[in-house]
Amino acid sequence: MITLDGSMGEGGGQVLRTALSLSLVTGQPFVLDRIRAGRQKPGLARQHLTCVLAAAEVGNAAVEGAELGSQRLAFKPRGLRAGDYAFAIGTAGSTTLVLQTLLPALLCANAPSTLQLSGGTHNPLAPPFDFLAKSFAPALRAMGVSLDLQLVRHGFAPAGGGAIACTIAPAKPQPVEFLQREAVGLPRARVLLAKIQASVGEREVHVVRRRLDLRAEQVHIEHVDSHGPGNMVLLEFANRFVTEVIGVPGERGTSAEQVAEQACALAKRYLASDAPVGEHLADQLLLPMAMAGGGVFRTLEPTLHTRTNAEVIERFVPVKFAFAEDGAAWRVSVAGRT
Ligand code: ATP
Repeated sequence: MITLDGSMGEGGGQVLRTALSLSLVTGQPFVLDRIRAGRQKPGLARQHLTCVLAAAEVGNAAVEGAELGSQRLAFKPRGLRAGDYAFAIGTAGSTTLVLQTLLPALLCANAPSTLQLSGGTHNPLAPPFDFLAKSFAPALRAMGVSLDLQLVRHGFAPAGGGAIACTIAPAKPQPVEFLQREAVGLPRARVLLAKIQASVGEREVHVVRRRLDLRAEQVHIEHVDSHGPGNMVLLEFANRFVTEVIGVPGERGTSAEQVAEQACALAKRYLASDAPVGEHLADQLLLPMAMAGGGVFRTLEPTLHTRTNAEVIERFVPVKFAFAEDGAAWRVSVAGRT
């Protein structure tokens, strides 16, 4: 039995999600105490509870503590099942985070699976669907994983009501090297608007074009359908091996200019280094790399999130991560531990 303290490092929801994923993959039960102790409202929120219930269904698990607000969870998987699964978060909680929780397990199942998830698709502090489709999934494909993703309907916080679908074929991830950044084509900016006046998009585009020196044809405003209002600035940097997608959602009380400035500041930080892998993809690649038993990438300075994820993974899988400064970037590698 693996025992984990949810207050470790970042102390957020990722400790739980990584534990669920790797418990299913390795068959090891775990107990997690002090869930999300580092957050203002600790314990399981809707998105986390959906992850627990979905993982329990996929892994036929015995579970204690699967309630909203619960700060302790015991999880014992009893056998993985491929299948056609549908899970509704019930709020605008992030569907992409639920997908990432189940994906490692479904890669280890004995047949292909489909997933339909409803909730938020373009949330603050979670991967937007476009990040999953253009950055995360291609990186996994480079590792030999076949993953088909579909955005059924956009869902923004707080209304939610979005949906994504996914087909996953069993595969063992293979080690990869993402070391160089070789830009392919010009950067692109997209502004999503749902039930928000066009002038917001125009103001965001104005800032993005000026700050990142983009031509009119590199910038697109897309009016999308969704239950509630929503806005997101998406900046895409396609490289030969990995694409970086920076997504910043519009929020009540934050001006269109501030949203666009925030996205541009993140883009400038990424462009100032010569690493291909952005800070979010970095923490999300660790788990598939551990399943591969090897691999290396160059990225920005690892976040506390990334280091915490590495620590949780090392509790379940006999691997060791190494982080080393490497010029204007960092090198993250993983190797088997004997
Ligand atoms: P909590 O409320 O406890 O913070 P959470 O369940 O929302 O928890 P985190 O532990 O903060 O989750 O993990 C969020 C995940 O979403 C991380 O993998 C992070 O890299 C990813 N993420 C956050 N923002 C973005 C973004 N803009 N683009 C891509 N990925 C993102």
